[in-house]
Amino acid sequence: MVQCVGSRDKSTHIYCSKICCAVALKNARSILQKNPDTEITICYKDIRLAGKDYEHYYVDCQNMGVNFINGDVLEVKEDPETKMLKLKVKPKYGEEVELEADLVVLTCALVPAKGMEELARTLNLSLSPDGFFMELHPKLAPVDTNVDGIYICGVCVVECPARAIQLRHYKDDQIFAAVSGVLKEV
Ligand code: SF4
Repeated sequence: MVQCVGSRDKSTHIYCSKICCAVALKNARSILQKNPDTEITICYKDIRLAGKDYEHYYVDCQNMGVNFINGDVLEVKEDPETKMLKLKVKPKYGEEVELEADLVVLTCALVPAKGMEELARTLNLSLSPDGFFMELHPKLAPVDTNVDGIYICGVCVVECPARAIQLRHYKDDQIFAAVSGVLKEV
């Protein structure tokens, strides 16, 4: 698995997609639970697990024998004879290494869905420079928007888990009113 593909890179998207380290670790753990002989390597820049519910995936993967390499994947090529994939990896510390795999999974950046701009125009919502919905204030009002009664969470703002949890601070009837208002408008 190759982490941060198209994320945390000035030439693509500078932001961290926030959920994909947890998803990759969860997938690795599930694969090993079903097929314990599978050899899995995760190449990563940092392992970022936001929230108290995710660290156990990392610990489990370490205990189950997942090979973690902190570094950059420079190249992936198919061997024309064996059809295996050859990866050149530059670890953060140490010499370049070559890996061979029969499957390479790219952990790609979250990007705004098609139609975000249109929806933002319809609802008069502001968009961030990355094209996601803009919160009213990143710390003081992270699920509020510039439109009264419309709240945001999940991948429309990238920061999925933390935002979803913060919505719990709002009363159910406030959320219901906000959501039904949006549905009626749209
Ligand atoms: S969550 Fe992990 S894989 Fe995803 S962009 Fe952030 S550091 Fe990279």
